Amino acid sequence: MTTAENILSTLLKDHGYSITSQRLLVFNLLIGQEPMTMHELIDRTNGKIDRASIYRIIGLFDQIGITQRLNIGWKYKIELTDKFAEHHHHLTCLNCHKVIPINKNELEDFIAQLATVQGFTPIDHQVEIQGYCQNCSKKVTKAKLLN
Ligand SMILES: [Zn+2]
Ligand SMILES: [Zn+2]
Repeated sequence: MTTAENILSTLLKDHGYSITSQRLLVFNLLIGQEPMTMHELIDRTNGKIDRASIYRIIGLFDQIGITQRLNIGWKYKIELTDKFAEHHHHLTCLNCHKVIPINKNELEDFIAQLATVQGFTPIDHQVEIQGYCQNCSKKVTKAKLLN
């Protein structure tokens, strides 16, 4: 087992679940990947697991902190939590739905500083930026100019 699979196995065990071949398969489809939609995830299982089981597995993963959801408008994408990937944030394009990871120490320091100034001990935070990617920005500006 890889280190990541060991963490997965421990997390499952801690919550009274065992590592099954289906859970492991879903996990391995998510690791090291960009956030993906349920649809994309289902596609990548190549029919090896039925839809209902995939939803159940992700539901469990969400619940015990293996995966997290990124809300993009009324949709969402799934990714592994910081336990399996370096802590990061995202820029999400509202037009093409591209998700760009961002990882800046300055941002982390600033967030910690904002909290500690208030005498607050920060444990976790979520910062998501939504807008238009470089490509789509051009299109959006053009469309606005034409109107
Ligand atoms: Zn875009
Ligand atoms: Zn952060």
